[in-house]
Amino acid sequence: MHLRSPSGLLPAARQRHSPNQDCRPVGAVVELVVVHGISLPPGEFGGEGIDQLFHNRLDAEARPCYREIAGLRVSAHLLIRRDGEIVQYVPFHRRAWHAGLSCHRGRSGCNDFSVGIELEGADQVPYTPVQYRHLARVIAALRRAYPTIPPDGVVGHSDIAPERKTDPGPAFRWDLLLRLRARGEPDLPDPRRPTWA
Ligand SMILES: [Zn+2]
Repeated sequence: MHLRSPSGLLPAARQRHSPNQDCRPVGAVVELVVVHGISLPPGEFGGEGIDQLFHNRLDAEARPCYREIAGLRVSAHLLIRRDGEIVQYVPFHRRAWHAGLSCHRGRSGCNDFSVGIELEGADQVPYTPVQYRHLARVIAALRRAYPTIPPDGVVGHSDIAPERKTDPGPAFRWDLLLRLRARGEPDLPDPRRPTWA
């Protein structure tokens, strides 16, 4: 998997660009990957709700739970669906609107310097193996394209907005992601290999 720069596109992804994006601030560099979990309606998978939300076409009347979110203007760079399909909503060099009020190591406004990746899922439901595999490969490709992302520059939405957000939730296995990432990122320690070996 690789990125096409400077277009900021992932050729492996279906392109469905969202209007909810703008320029990153002058001088901003990509230093962080934010992992999210999302499903619309919550806990239901495979529908068009996420796509509609990111295109400002969510029908507020379709479901009671849509009423309060239908007016949001949000997006993410990528969505990885449960069957592994990758959809790109925002080119990586542009700013997606995924983090909201957020803070990482004392810096607020994480949208400015991060890539947002949504996994179709819910906090308490195991994510699928193909989602982990694709997420790990996307992160490796991002780090090749943006060497400014450090090895530990991958966090959950709940890490940067702990008072507001719980995603990707306790179901997300950070240990598994790290193990898969170690295959494609030479500067990561392989967790299976004892450090004294
Ligand atoms: Zn989120």
